Amino acid sequence: MEDLKAPYRAFMEAHVYPNEAALAREDDEAARLVVELRGRAKAEGLWAPHLPPEAGGTGRGFLAYAHLNEEIGRCVWGQLVFNCQAPDAGNGEILHLFGTEEQKERWLGPLVAGDTRSFFSMTEPEVSGADPTGLRTTAVRDSDEWVIDGHKWFSSGAEGAAFGIVMAVTSPDAERHRRMSQILVPADSPGIEVTSVPVMGHRGRGWSTHCEVTYTGVRVPVGNLLGEEGDGFRIAQKRLGPGRIHHVMRWLGQMQRAFELMCSYALEREAFGGPLAEKQTVQNWIADSAADIQACRLLTLDAAHKIDQGDEARVEISLVKFFAARVLNEVIDRAIQVHGGLGLTDRTPLAAMWAMARGGRIYDGPDEVHRMVVSRRILKEFAAGRKWTFS
Ligand SMILES: Cc1cc2nc3c(=O)[nH]c(=O)nc-3n(C[C@H](O)[C@H](O)[C@H](O)COP(=O)(O)OP(=O)(O)OC[C@H]3O[C@@H](n4cnc5c(N)ncnc54)[C@H](O)[C@@H]3O)c2cc1C
Repeated sequence: MEDLKAPYRAFMEAHVYPNEAALAREDDEAARLVVELRGRAKAEGLWAPHLPPEAGGTGRGFLAYAHLNEEIGRCVWGQLVFNCQAPDAGNGEILHLFGTEEQKERWLGPLVAGDTRSFFSMTEPEVSGADPTGLRTTAVRDSDEWVIDGHKWFSSGAEGAAFGIVMAVTSPDAERHRRMSQILVPADSPGIEVTSVPVMGHRGRGWSTHCEVTYTGVRVPVGNLLGEEGDGFRIAQKRLGPGRIHHVMRWLGQMQRAFELMCSYALEREAFGGPLAEKQTVQNWIADSAADIQACRLLTLDAAHKIDQGDEARVEISLVKFFAARVLNEVIDRAIQVHGGLGLTDRTPLAAMWAMARGGRIYDGPDEVHRMVVSRRILKEFAAGRKWTFS
């Protein structure tokens, strides 16, 4: 794995960290830098590592990607530079798995080439996103078109995207999990309105936005249906499972970086007659963080290995999603505390990391829902008279 990771690490050190502050400004200069860095990464073959070569990527399976992402995830801009950013990564994966040849050519090709971006439009403000069986956006068939009406939000990256994948009710009377479908919608279709909603005080720009999107009589050809009618949940499950692991892999990079900053600063900063590293509270934070990060790493590698073996790894994915989201928040918080006031400034990446980390306990399923999934599956085994153990 070292061979795979080394060029990504070298690229991050040479081109991403030195430009981190400039990228975070999200102005015209940052937009120009993103284009330049993406061009360089692509030219060096460090590109779309989440997708296999037959889909246009450079991926070598989930386990390898887990190792790479620990490097890429250390800076929030890394995923964009290497064209494996959410939600495009997940959208690319489902287009590869479920798209027709025509859909792949029109949507997947430009996405993997880095010429376009996309968004995933599922969550709605009026109903629970954690329980998406109640989503209200509809797509009604009118001869050879779908007519979409609805109100979404948290459609991340919708500003400036070329297309979205919209989850909509197509068969209202079907069984709960067969009521919805996923439909490809060009972002410039008449009837779409996109507005960025500031999150944690951050409006974002382009890729980093979280948008409210309204669909009013939006018409797309019937051929824009992804998979079969009623496949919405099946495809969402295929997308969200691996997507959750992608997040956790990147969070490992964030945790590790916060941890390194905490340790270095604890050694260098002095208070009350000696370095912070000699205070037992700080030592406890360092030891607890080391244990928590390693536990997350091993849980992630275990889930990635099982996915590579063809296992859905539902328990493993939910387990590491809620566990790692907590650890991510705690480690960054401890690192900020060790840095004192400096930790709240933009002179370290910690404050920006902290603001991003909080959403991890909510997106792709809140902590409470993943705990529910894990405990339900375990209890089901016990109720059937079996014990539950990890294989
Ligand atoms: C940064 C960010 C990016 C996002 N990007 C996207 C995107 O690109 N596309 C998209 O479609 N969505 C996106 N989302 C939306 C996200 O997936 C939803 O916010 C999430 O699924 C929760 O839905 P909700 O916000 O409606 O909360 P609700 O479903 O209303 O839940 C509110 C709270 O209720 C509690 N709760 C819910 N169910 C249970 C339960 N069974 N047991 C105990 N407690 C429970 C939890 O504490 C939960 O946080 C994003 C969200 C964030 C924060």
